[in-house]
Amino acid sequence: MSNLDTTPQPALRGGRQAVPGKPAHELLEPRLASLGGSTQVRRLLPNLGRRMVGAWCFVDHYGPDDIADEPGMWVPPHPHTSLQTVSWLHEGEVLHRDSLGSLQTVRPRELGLMTAGHGISHAEQSPREHAALLHGAQLWVALPAAHLDTAPVFEHRADLPTLTSRSGLEATVILGEMDGTRSPGTTYSPLLGVDIALTAGADATLPLEPDFEHAVLTMSGTVRIDGQPVGPGSMLYLGCGRDGLRLHADSDCGLLLLGGEPFEEKIVMWWNFIGRSQGDIERARAEWMAADERFGRIDGFDGAPLPAPELPPLPLKARGRVR
Ligand code: MN
Repeated sequence: MSNLDTTPQPALRGGRQAVPGKPAHELLEPRLASLGGSTQVRRLLPNLGRRMVGAWCFVDHYGPDDIADEPGMWVPPHPHTSLQTVSWLHEGEVLHRDSLGSLQTVRPRELGLMTAGHGISHAEQSPREHAALLHGAQLWVALPAAHLDTAPVFEHRADLPTLTSRSGLEATVILGEMDGTRSPGTTYSPLLGVDIALTAGADATLPLEPDFEHAVLTMSGTVRIDGQPVGPGSMLYLGCGRDGLRLHADSDCGLLLLGGEPFEEKIVMWWNFIGRSQGDIERARAEWMAADERFGRIDGFDGAPLPAPELPPLPLKARGRVR
């Protein structure tokens, strides 16, 4: 998925100073953004007060939208650098094409994981024949310095491991490991992504890694965490220092638990690129606009690639959160 802001602001992140060393409760409200086609998204990260959770640096939640009589999602070819994208669905399908030649339909609770590394381009759309409802999330993971230029790769996993409890919880491990159950998806920093389905009335406790910071995004239903209700489209940031997370479901709930070791590197994120300097971003932008081989070609998409917006007049600097 692409960041379609026509005037993307430089997003400056990094630094452990901004990470509470003890459990926190910070309710992050989404802001609306437009995606290709009829798809509107609620952007949780970056957020005004909280820009990363571990290496998770971008979280969009969309739907459920009734697209029975519409084309649905339509995101033309666009580039990425130095990040991974995660496509995650609760309803519907997304057809992924990329410059490695991948052509993959991603379905609910299947992992579509694209590592951009040095550079890749992709397009995403609803297949011509699609389910009536589309409901999902698009997430980005920042790559640490040692892996910025890793070779691009696309992974599709339809057989992710799950954990169930008698208390009405089913957890699917998207990335990382929970309670000894590990996702096969490739990660480059200590990271956690878990999909959680709760039935109404469920009261369940999940083990957490205390050195990680965590956040919970509610995709459907309402969950209570430490007594605080978190409704659809909201995300509760939980800080570090928790060894468990108790969840109460007032209704059937669909959640995403995101976590990771606080990401200490300072990064520059602009449009669909991550870099460490203004030069990294300028070079990636120029190479995309020149159709450089860095970003390859995508076969079979019926539409023109997305042009990059103009760079902002102010320089892009990699800085921490505390300016
Ligand atoms: Mn994308």
